[in-house]
Amino acid sequence: MKPGVSITLAAIALFGLIGIQYFLISDLYDLKKNEFDTMYGTSIKNGLIDMQTRLQTNGLDTVFYLMDLQAIELLSDYAFADDDSIIQQLNSYVIEKYQEVLYNEEKISIYLKNYLEEFNLDTDFRSGFLVYGVSIVDQDSVYLVYSEEEDQAFERRAMVDETGAIHVNRFQVEGNYFRIDFDYFIDFTHKTRIILRDMTIAFILALLSILVAGVVFLVTIRNMLKHKKLSEMKTDFINNLAHELKTPLTTVSVASSTLADSKIQMDKDRITSLSDLIRQQNKQLTQLIDRILDINIWEKDQITLKKQDVMILELIKNRLNAFRLENINKKVNVIEDLKLVDKMVNIDEFQFTIALNNILSNALKYGGDPPEIKVEAGIINETLYISVVDNGPGIDREEQRNIFTKFYRGNRNRKNIKGLGLGLFYVRKIIEMHGGTVELNSKPGKGSEFTIILPIETD
Ligand code: ADP
Repeated sequence: MKPGVSITLAAIALFGLIGIQYFLISDLYDLKKNEFDTMYGTSIKNGLIDMQTRLQTNGLDTVFYLMDLQAIELLSDYAFADDDSIIQQLNSYVIEKYQEVLYNEEKISIYLKNYLEEFNLDTDFRSGFLVYGVSIVDQDSVYLVYSEEEDQAFERRAMVDETGAIHVNRFQVEGNYFRIDFDYFIDFTHKTRIILRDMTIAFILALLSILVAGVVFLVTIRNMLKHKKLSEMKTDFINNLAHELKTPLTTVSVASSTLADSKIQMDKDRITSLSDLIRQQNKQLTQLIDRILDINIWEKDQITLKKQDVMILELIKNRLNAFRLENINKKVNVIEDLKLVDKMVNIDEFQFTIALNNILSNALKYGGDPPEIKVEAGIINETLYISVVDNGPGIDREEQRNIFTKFYRGNRNRKNIKGLGLGLFYVRKIIEMHGGTVELNSKPGKGSEFTIILPIETD
């Protein structure tokens, strides 16, 4: 399966899982809400029955008594009112007063709070009334104060239901001088919090499963991309390798055909120089093959350091001198600033020299024209540092992140400059095996500085 296809499928699966969890959680929320309503609704109803049996009251006696008083006071006003506007005023007055007495009545809620507390249920609630109709009545007259149409009453009730308030009771009361029709609701302040608290475990499990799936998804994508990059790098490596092997082989082939020429066989100097050339190319081939074999050894972690006390100043000086000689025709200017006096450092001389040389060769390969390389070394706080600064084009951030990766070759240089992308990988491996680190400091256009940092024991 192509990586794009598997990433898309994995993403669909992940979003599917998130969707399923969402539906499960919202279903669970509805379920818990119903559970809450049933439990609290039943408890409140039982509380009302309990109040009726124990106190012989529905908790609203005082309310109805006050309503009767208000009605008596207003009866004569209604009887004499012959003007619509006066009747309207009276009606508004009644509605206002009746609502006032309803909302000021605390007895029922105080009783219910005590009742709920006995069962360890939440007691933080507000109560509310929805009045559908009010009339003031006399022996032979009925004054309709307020009456709501069926569908309007239904709509208002639905709105209250939507807020999550619990419908406790419908009161259709006939007093001596009034009639009233209303619903009594109770709204628990912490209802949502109580329901969500009940769902904590489900929440945690849902989040965990999404999190785990998300992490697996990301890790899979990362591995896939890494794999892809590695396989691209390997292809590059093989191409480079073929290129590197071809150059000495072509030289050997040309040299040996020249040797076969009968005219040349008389010329001793030509023979010597051609056989030197063949030997040189052969050495280069052997070195190349050794480096490739080395990678296999590192992969199996079989490399072991043969450490011994080495005069570090001497090692660096020798390498720099040899480096100057090897590259004499490239007019390289190597400036040294070595603040090391007779210091012995415990290292594998052979491997360390190769690591240092890889950094020096890169400074020349990727350096400026004419190349100038500054080598500084010293010991600060029991730490040896060797820094190599070049005057090349520098390395951008993206490249800096990958530069020590096996087979990695920078885009800018790979076309013209030969290499296998192994030099810096080797440097870091060897220096880390010595317990040190390699630091890179570079800005595009400002050259690059590679520093080997190695903790040492000083006497
Ligand atoms: P190679 O030189 O065979 O490509 P290296 O591992 O030595 O492999 O280097 C990896 C890459 O790092 C190089 O291809 C090059 O792009 C970049 N690089 C290394 N040293 C320098 C330097 N001194 N200046 C600029 N780029 C460098």
